[in-house]
Amino acid sequence: MLLHADSFQAKAKQLQIDRIGIAAVKPVGDHVKDTFLRYLEKGRQAEMHYLERHLEKRFDPAMLLPGARSLVVILCGYAQAEDTPRHPHISLYAQGKDYHLYVKEKLNALAEHLPAGTFRCFCDTAPVLEKYWAEQAGLGVVGKNSLLINPDFGSYCFIGILLTQAAFDHYDRPLYETPGFTHPCADCRLCAEACPAGALQNGLDANRCLSYLTIEHKGERPPLPAGWFGCDRCQKVCPANRSIARPGHADFRASDTLLSLTEETVLAMKQEEFEKTFGNSAILRAGLDGLQKNIKAQPHGKPATSF
Ligand code: SF4
Ligand code: SF4
Repeated sequence: MLLHADSFQAKAKQLQIDRIGIAAVKPVGDHVKDTFLRYLEKGRQAEMHYLERHLEKRFDPAMLLPGARSLVVILCGYAQAEDTPRHPHISLYAQGKDYHLYVKEKLNALAEHLPAGTFRCFCDTAPVLEKYWAEQAGLGVVGKNSLLINPDFGSYCFIGILLTQAAFDHYDRPLYETPGFTHPCADCRLCAEACPAGALQNGLDANRCLSYLTIEHKGERPPLPAGWFGCDRCQKVCPANRSIARPGHADFRASDTLLSLTEETVLAMKQEEFEKTFGNSAILRAGLDGLQKNIKAQPHGKPATSF
């Protein structure tokens, strides 16, 4: 089956998907494999052992869906207007609805334009190199902060993948192949210099990253200089995030309940209330115990510094 890429992209626009790109399925290049394997060898994945599994699928998406021909990559921008209220100690991406739910809804709606049984949708739910495929689909480049940087939305965007057996009449090309393209990180190290944990020296080291330590890490916390959930410092200082589009999707705005949270209310919370408060939020991932540990790990028991 051969589909028209332009018509498919127009459907994405009707669904208010902020950006879409399409890449042909093929195994990733040797340099991509080597970089990923070196990252694992150095142990920079910390306790995210799922990254060590299913490497053959991670390096070849066709192994996730027999007969797969195309990867449709979508971006959903989550930045809000500067004056939109937000909780100061929670990462911007987790202020509103869980992005996994939002992105999956968009992918499922888009997939209705494909024949049944010819696709799979992913948003952090399969061993796929999402940022690499976003690059291949012309949606941006990976920056020194390890995030995808899109020319319009900066690094404030979520990635979703639709892997399909459909072929398209044409495919997008990586931006770095555009004549005259300059990588946004070419003469910049601001994120590495601003990182309070020294986690961005020659790539990301999750062992040090406050985002990892406050969300994925299950053990005791070292002293945490900022943030109950996640850390935005490397994004805040990034010049590529100035003058970006701020789509202001209502789903990603902080609810009144979130805005009213204090150290005391979270520390006094019971499991049932935690699930009720964060049932639709990415914060659920840290668990109540994790969130409370993060708050207690602020230096000397002082209130968390906002980031
Ligand atoms: S702060 Fe500079 S080096 Fe870091 S991701 Fe942004 S542009 Fe690249
Ligand atoms: S999220 Fe925070 S700790 Fe992690 S790399 Fe960025 S600035 Fe450093």
